[in-house]
Amino acid sequence: MKQLFSGACLVGLTMLAGSASAQRGNTNAEYNANTRFEQMGTMLPTPNSTRAASGAPGKEYWQQRADYDIKVELDDEQRKITGSEMVTYFNQSPDVLPYIWLQLDQNLFKSDAIGKTTGTGGIDPAQGSSARGLSQIVNTDPKKYGYNIKAVKDAKGGALRYTINNTMMRIDLPVPLRPGQTAVFSVDWDYLITEYYGRSGYEFFAKDGNANYFIAHWFPRLCAYDDVNGWQHKQFLGQGEFTLIFGNYKVAITVPNDHVLGATGELQNPKDVLTAAQSKRLDQAKASFDKPVVIVTPEEAEKAEKGKPTGKKTWVFKADNVRDFAFATSRKFIWDAMNVDIDGKKTLAMSFFSKEGNPLWGQYSTQVVAHTLRSYGARTIAYPYPVAISCHATAGGGMEYPMISFNGGRPEADGTYSEQTKAGMIGVIIHEVGHNFFPMIVNSDERQWSWMDEGLNTFCQYLAEQEWDRNFPSRRGEPQEIVNYMKSAPNTQVPIMASSDNVLQFGPNAYAKPATGLNILRETIMGRELFDYAFKEYARRWAFKSPTPADFFRTMEDASGVDLDWFWKGWFYSIDAADQELTDVQWLAIDPMDPAITKAAAKAEADRRKRTLSVERNKTDIKQTVVEKIPEMNDFYNSYDRYAVTEADKKKYTDFVASLSEDEKKLFQSGKNFYTLNLKNNGGLVMPVIAKADYEDGSSEVFRFPVEIWRFNDKEIKKVIPTDKKVTRWTIDPFYEIADINADNNSYPRQAAQPTRFQLYKQRANPYAPQGPNPMQQQRQNKPSAVQGSQGRN
Ligand SMILES: [Zn+2]
Repeated sequence: MKQLFSGACLVGLTMLAGSASAQRGNTNAEYNANTRFEQMGTMLPTPNSTRAASGAPGKEYWQQRADYDIKVELDDEQRKITGSEMVTYFNQSPDVLPYIWLQLDQNLFKSDAIGKTTGTGGIDPAQGSSARGLSQIVNTDPKKYGYNIKAVKDAKGGALRYTINNTMMRIDLPVPLRPGQTAVFSVDWDYLITEYYGRSGYEFFAKDGNANYFIAHWFPRLCAYDDVNGWQHKQFLGQGEFTLIFGNYKVAITVPNDHVLGATGELQNPKDVLTAAQSKRLDQAKASFDKPVVIVTPEEAEKAEKGKPTGKKTWVFKADNVRDFAFATSRKFIWDAMNVDIDGKKTLAMSFFSKEGNPLWGQYSTQVVAHTLRSYGARTIAYPYPVAISCHATAGGGMEYPMISFNGGRPEADGTYSEQTKAGMIGVIIHEVGHNFFPMIVNSDERQWSWMDEGLNTFCQYLAEQEWDRNFPSRRGEPQEIVNYMKSAPNTQVPIMASSDNVLQFGPNAYAKPATGLNILRETIMGRELFDYAFKEYARRWAFKSPTPADFFRTMEDASGVDLDWFWKGWFYSIDAADQELTDVQWLAIDPMDPAITKAAAKAEADRRKRTLSVERNKTDIKQTVVEKIPEMNDFYNSYDRYAVTEADKKKYTDFVASLSEDEKKLFQSGKNFYTLNLKNNGGLVMPVIAKADYEDGSSEVFRFPVEIWRFNDKEIKKVIPTDKKVTRWTIDPFYEIADINADNNSYPRQAAQPTRFQLYKQRANPYAPQGPNPMQQQRQNKPSAVQGSQGRN
């Protein structure tokens, strides 16, 4: 066998007497004291009667509640919302409340909003600026966005004092609200709807002159008041989403009478708003469990978009135990639905989309909704609401609200689409419908912690995508996909445990990194069984309640019996990355001690060492012939053979073998190989060690060591691995499961280097040739492409 390892040597059995201490090391150089495995201690809040040390809600857990009775009308001409809400606020806290805070999210669109005026960045004269970007800076839109609060009154109609602070409004109560009491008040308002901006707004279709409306954060909503923050009234800057409380909703929505409308909750008056045929199809959909039934057909939608409304219609919805309410409405909408049975609980999976979404939407959307409910339901709690809706909004991402979501994924104008568009659409529907579980049911504080809903949801999304199609091109979830982020510059990274509005690289930080962390916990650190049980327990404990990060961290440990404090500290509280390096492997074997073997081997080795250049030359050098001239000298020199096996040698060996117990004898004669792997932790983040041995017979074996292997030394360790067969190559992290940011140093001997490819040009384009309206810009853009190969595409 070709010898591949350095320093292969034979060592005596006495080496085994070192046992455990030999593994752990006797010299100080083998230690590197560290606190990576210390408990989190005061990093987490002290458990109390509202939040238990186990991570469960405490025996005195409480949360507030607000019920809404809302009447709202859409003005399709002016693109305006006019609403009036009657709120019943239940003070279930132990505190006396002199005032109540409401969220005025539409004020984000005022010209002086904090979220607008604090945007930074310059204009690159070489790159230019888009007209849209510049008009946002100059604010060329003559419309005045944001809330116009018309009245705030008590139950009897008396005016209440209120103060608006940017996106928040404080209502001063005439009498402080005591624990157990309710406050009833009303608010009247209107506002102009913005163009769709990713979370809400209208999309206008110039071709037919109609708009699809996606109406969200449209009514003044109660701020959360809880045991963690008191009032959670951090301003809405745009990135950190919504922190809300549960309540029951009754909402009457008046729209042009040719509109089709989907909303949070159950439609109370289908007979008033649907044709007889559509009502019948809705009933058919409720009886269909395998495929969607079209309730409003493409033909009906197309007819409506060419016509004009003849009046108004009011759609009435009821939704219980939800934290928000949203709706989508348009005369362009096609509507289909099917029933989904999860543990005996039935839910209508539905889609609303204009013809621009077809053929993709009619084919996939509702089926994806149904799949998502089943997949998430299996790993969290059974979906508790009567409907789940996916609406088609523009081309890009998506946005979630209780029971309803607005999703991108649009084919080309001619109805063709790429695989990427299709996968993007399916992925975004899974994600946004999945948000029903996090944060709509497991109601975390989105304004503070984006990862608690986005990360947990993206993790479940990854699993649901893979269940939909084993080859689904999931963008997030696999450890390899987070490597580029983990090795990005430290000044562009914040820990996952950062407040939503301060997060840099939002997608990787709040979505991909926490999702990947959970996947690593599930596959590598905890195992599927322990992880799935604990994750489900977290969802069960906190469904319809408001957990904090500590509640999640504690529940995952409490239910699995796995100490994960090191992981939370490393993955969630730091920006350390995993970079394990296999620096060296030493191959050792037990000295056979049989003199017949050892002496012959020693002689062979001595003979090999004798074959030097001088010895070779001396063979033919005339001056070195003394021994040939005087043969007696020859006898004199060679009379003693140091490699001959003596009787004493044989006895020593026989005695030694006789002294061994049967088990020791077995080990002694086993012919085992001992490989000492020298491992470095270059990235800082500690992770389990997974080592794969490729054997000379073509087979392989994987050795897994829990992360605690690093507890006495978090920088460099040695690990002895015994094998029966001879190893030709060792590889650590062979399945790419720890997000190691440098896989080039994971093999020993190193894998043959792959070349960095560069492109060969027939003729290089003249970078100075004018190619467009801005030659300077073209020149800049051409430069990087000429050195594309240096990016390291392998
Ligand atoms: Zn999301």
